[in-house]
Amino acid sequence: MARNIGSRYTAHQILGRGSAGTVWLGEGPEGPVAVKLLREDLASDQELVGRFVQERTALLGLDHPRVVKVRDLVVDGNDLALVMDLVRGTDLRTRLDRERRLAPEAAVAIVKDVAEALAVAHKAGIVHRDVKPENILLDMEGPLGPGGAHPALLTDFGVAKLIDTPGRTKATRIIGTPDYLAPEIVEGLPPRAAVDIYALATVLYELLAGFTPFGGGHPGAVLRRHVTETVVPLPGIPEELWQLIVQCLAKAPASRLRASELAARLADVLPLLKGIPPLDVDEPDAEPAPEPYEEDTYSTSTAAGEPGPRRAAVPLVPGASADSNRDTHTSMRVPAPDELSGGPLGTARAPRPAGARRPGSARHKAGAVRKRRITLAVAAVVIAGALGTGGYLAASGDGDAPPQDSKQSSQP
Ligand code: ADP
Repeated sequence: MARNIGSRYTAHQILGRGSAGTVWLGEGPEGPVAVKLLREDLASDQELVGRFVQERTALLGLDHPRVVKVRDLVVDGNDLALVMDLVRGTDLRTRLDRERRLAPEAAVAIVKDVAEALAVAHKAGIVHRDVKPENILLDMEGPLGPGGAHPALLTDFGVAKLIDTPGRTKATRIIGTPDYLAPEIVEGLPPRAAVDIYALATVLYELLAGFTPFGGGHPGAVLRRHVTETVVPLPGIPEELWQLIVQCLAKAPASRLRASELAARLADVLPLLKGIPPLDVDEPDAEPAPEPYEEDTYSTSTAAGEPGPRRAAVPLVPGASADSNRDTHTSMRVPAPDELSGGPLGTARAPRPAGARRPGSARHKAGAVRKRRITLAVAAVVIAGALGTGGYLAASGDGDAPPQDSKQSSQP
């Protein structure tokens, strides 16, 4: 069933659905295109439409082989659409769901492509703000690169920003996907380029390990881990690669690499990865765990390389049920100070119920309906205050990350 999008485009068939809208296979004056038709509630928001038009030049201006090009923005009656280059392939989440882990060479080749995309965007002053496997498309018609990887392209530039309009998000809420959110966002700071580097390093870790470094359980627990926990090492990768990951997952934004440096350093390590098979690592919480929330079942972080704490739901509010969908648009109630002081922060976690799987895990995903999302709305300022982790912020100016998101509605 075809439908017209503005006067120049026709949408023929649905390619997929995302949190912000539906992507159609379409046709334009210059041939096939992908048309992202934004959700009705977004399209009917006059303020958002205004921003959409304002953003036009920036979005259309991004032109790089590793960026899914936005060709046109259409505002027509109730329709609000982004017309993009059609990528014939799949997204990285689909590949990860299928393969669980990628060989290090392929993983690094893909992440290097995305780092190159971020480098041009950051140079143009654009912060993506929602880097994750769902927004990385693999061009199956492109030439095979190192490790047999197809060229990767970053998409959805500007979409997180559009949704995060002042009218839509309160000052105490933040936008993003919990597993990939940089600690400074949890702290309520405005998103700068370094948040994309953190998210991309999280993606790299996930491609190698099959799970994200700080994901799993209640969104509040995920946010807290970003701020307080240290990443668990991955055995079996060259030290050079591990150091890159650690550096880009640094809590202090200024300590992370810039996108162009990251791309160059990843290119340097690629030759070391030839022939290394996908890693054989297990999730920190792979074993069955006792009932949650009991004092004596908290475990403590151990030294690098030793079995770490079991990962599980650590609710900010006792009795809150664990959110099993990391992709959910979540709104958390503001916890009272005594509720927040209930458990040890940073070094301990409540275990997950016996047999329960971590939501971000490949095993969980294998049995679950794939859910898409982008937005988490959470009482960020309250969480940040409760975390009491402002220490590193003093050192986290963005001298390292000049581009800045022009819209700062999530600023406290
Ligand atoms: P999300 O909000 O989860 O990022 P999107 O709305 O961007 O999802 O995309 C939904 C689906 O459409 C995905 O499966 C993605 O692979 C597909 N898709 C998105 N953009 C394009 C494109 N430019 N070309 C081809 N397929 C696309």
